[in-house]
Amino acid sequence: VKSLSGRELAEQIRAATAESAARLSAAGRPPRLAIVTATADESSAAYVRSLTRAAAKAGIDCRVTDLVPREEIAKTLSALSGDPLVHGIILQTPLPGGARLAEAIDPAKDVDGASPASLGRLMTGEPGFAPATAEAVVRLLGHHDVALRGTRVVVVGRSAIVGKPVTHLLLDRDATVTVCHSRTRDLASVTSSADVLVVAAGRAGLIGVDHVAPGATVVDVGTNVLADGSLVGDVAPEVAAVAGALSPVPGGVGPVTTAVLLRHVVEAAGSAPAFGNSGGAR
Ligand code: NAP
Repeated sequence: VKSLSGRELAEQIRAATAESAARLSAAGRPPRLAIVTATADESSAAYVRSLTRAAAKAGIDCRVTDLVPREEIAKTLSALSGDPLVHGIILQTPLPGGARLAEAIDPAKDVDGASPASLGRLMTGEPGFAPATAEAVVRLLGHHDVALRGTRVVVVGRSAIVGKPVTHLLLDRDATVTVCHSRTRDLASVTSSADVLVVAAGRAGLIGVDHVAPGATVVDVGTNVLADGSLVGDVAPEVAAVAGALSPVPGGVGPVTTAVLLRHVVEAAGSAPAFGNSGGAR
């Protein structure tokens, strides 16, 4: 099975981002990312730490506002939206009502495409940022020369931050897309019809050999931490024996997501008040 590693692509994006960040800093406009957290869970804290490290490596200043009380989140996001020194804003989720709260993020600074306005722009082709994970999936496929036009793609998962936006990006690339979810009847019969299967359910081992057509391309977006602390995707290891190509977890979509997110920050810093639409562009 071919490994759809994201490491090389992430490095390419990161190098280009670091170059842009250095140019912006030299021009007196150092790119800055603001991260707002509201909950104290360890996996979210670990993600924020790794994002902060990656930002520093790319020359992007990262400011974390931790544990904002729920009733102050909108106010905090509005203040950051109005701060000319801040170019990108992330509200750390999961958070009940997260998309609603993200409404307070200026779309020009919504580098993870989380707000209803950004999602609307994605659907209508207006300039804006796509959710980084969704964009990462499509970029990863492009990097490995996986054709999408006219192909049958099945997406498992319909969240506003991964499943739905990736469905839209794939449609934009002329794939024929079917979306599955927890109420889908006979999941295997649908997924096994896919040329390209994108799995973002957050259920370790959900996709087994019976779910995958021989030779199909499988992108595993899932990240699940097992009891022993190891990180696995949604696709069972045995699938490697039937798939034609498979993205690893870790080392597949994850590193590309981080790189895309930081790329969005320099795009936001470089093009204000207009902003990029690297997600929607074909
Ligand atoms: P989410 O909001 O929990 O959505 C999960 C989706 O999967 C839902 O639409 C759900 O269906 C569907 N689903 C759950 N169990 C299913 C089953 N047994 N059969 C079919 N569909 C099922 O999660 P998310 O935020 O989209 O994230 C999905 C996964 O991607 C998670 O593991 C997350 O950690 C990972 N992730 C990875 C990255 C990265 O950079 N690699 C970034 C973001 C997220 P219903 O709608 O019917 O409930």
